[in-house]
Amino acid sequence: MDCLFCSIAAGEIPSKKVYEDDTVVAFYDVDPQAPVHVLVIPRQHIASPDDITPDNSAVVAHVFEVIAKLAKELGLENGYRVVTNCGKDGGQSVQHLHFHVLGKRSLAWPPG
Ligand code: AMP
Repeated sequence: MDCLFCSIAAGEIPSKKVYEDDTVVAFYDVDPQAPVHVLVIPRQHIASPDDITPDNSAVVAHVFEVIAKLAKELGLENGYRVVTNCGKDGGQSVQHLHFHVLGKRSLAWPPG
């Protein structure tokens, strides 16, 4: 299947990855809409939020666990937005489930 985010997850297309494990990959958005703009995607191809089912929904819970961890690492202690677009009218341009994490670093970042 020809899918941009599957190719990024597989490392076939370069990206600035900030996190990866067996289930999810996180990388900087190429066209940031906030000072920090990261995309978190499942490795598994799920086309959109409409395609979340009892069989694959555990990956979504894991995505949010990773987001909480990344937010701390990226210095988003003061808060951030998580956005998922669904379908044409929802502004979804890449047909692979993804979660935008948008925020700005706190003044205390980087730690230490
Ligand atoms: P959406 O409009 O919700 O489907 O979001 C797709 C996002 O993917 C947009 O914010 C794009 O800037 C981003 N994007 C597209 N191609 C790439 C890429 N090669 N690497 C990183 N982000 C990308």
